[in-house]
Amino acid sequence: MGRLKVDSARDTLREINPLVEVEAYNALLSRTNVLEIIPHYDIVVDGTDNVPPRYLLSDACVLLGKPFVHGSIFRFQGQVAVLCTKDGPCFRCAFPAPPPPEIVQKIAVGGVIGVQPGIIGCLQALEVIKLIVGKGKPLIGRLLVFDGVNMRFREVRLQKDPDCLACGAHATITRDLPDYEAFCGLRPQAASPAPKAEIIPNELAGLLRETKPLVLLDVREPAEYTDSHIPGARSIPLAELLFHVHEFTWADDIVVYSGADTRAQQAAERLRKFKFRRTRVLTGGFQSWLKAA
Ligand SMILES: [Zn+2]
Repeated sequence: MGRLKVDSARDTLREINPLVEVEAYNALLSRTNVLEIIPHYDIVVDGTDNVPPRYLLSDACVLLGKPFVHGSIFRFQGQVAVLCTKDGPCFRCAFPAPPPPEIVQKIAVGGVIGVQPGIIGCLQALEVIKLIVGKGKPLIGRLLVFDGVNMRFREVRLQKDPDCLACGAHATITRDLPDYEAFCGLRPQAASPAPKAEIIPNELAGLLRETKPLVLLDVREPAEYTDSHIPGARSIPLAELLFHVHEFTWADDIVVYSGADTRAQQAAERLRKFKFRRTRVLTGGFQSWLKAA
């Protein structure tokens, strides 16, 4: 979604209800940022309009222990369920395999009857309120299916799958989330070439000598930086890194270093999650720089 659209959607929501605080993200939710965004919220509501992000959100909610209020619509049909609660099933328990790609694509272009999002959205909102106040019987383990043509509701029982890849006893889905487009057959499982993740001190020294545009980050504590650092490095302690990401661009060549610890690796991991793919870690940290100098 472009910045303009994000802003106008936020303004419209504010006009409807100024008491609602809206935080808009000018980014497509993906496996690289979902685990950074969801921890800030208590309940996740499914407002997606296609299949891959539902697996993404469900897996992320299982990993982070957040309830996922699922809702989907297709033409005159709709369904609602409360998933990913402590003892309830997740989206994968209910739908272990995605529908065939041609069906996924058909859903994407199939369209919906305009009132359906209102009906299903209100049912989701009601489930959210029930979860917040702890009242009533939420749709846990129950898929509520709405048939708008015949104006009928029915309920399908959902069970937690003990062998579920996400929430089962031997779950294999980890924070290194899979490629959901590929999982749903929308893209071949081709691994993109991983960017070179490290840089040795001599190579870094060469780049600095060439005065090539380079963002060199010292992610140690300020006292360590003051004590000694690589000339040209900026001091941004690991804990403050996320407050500075807006200062870089995705095209920047970024090199991070710390001492003989994992702070630089953690920093690089966070930066890559925000699509700073040209991020490298100084091999051996500051000590190896001193030795090589
Ligand atoms: Zn599950």
